Amino acid sequence: MVAAISDDLPHQNPCAQCGRLIAAPVWFENGPRRTAYLWQCVHCGYQFETVAFFREANDELRAHAA
Ligand SMILES: [Zn+2]
Repeated sequence: MVAAISDDLPHQNPCAQCGRLIAAPVWFENGPRRTAYLWQCVHCGYQFETVAFFREANDELRAHAA
């Protein structure tokens, strides 16, 4: 169960090209100790990726929260 996953998503990330805020990533991928997010700017069309690193694996954190 990953019902609360949307709460983990970053929001309002500024576009790397034009600086306008992007409400939410269009795609993300969870990996061991990291999550990659793909952002697409609706204003200029620019796409870029950010990666969040965690000290513990995501699965461990979710297991504690469940
Ligand atoms: Zn932009």
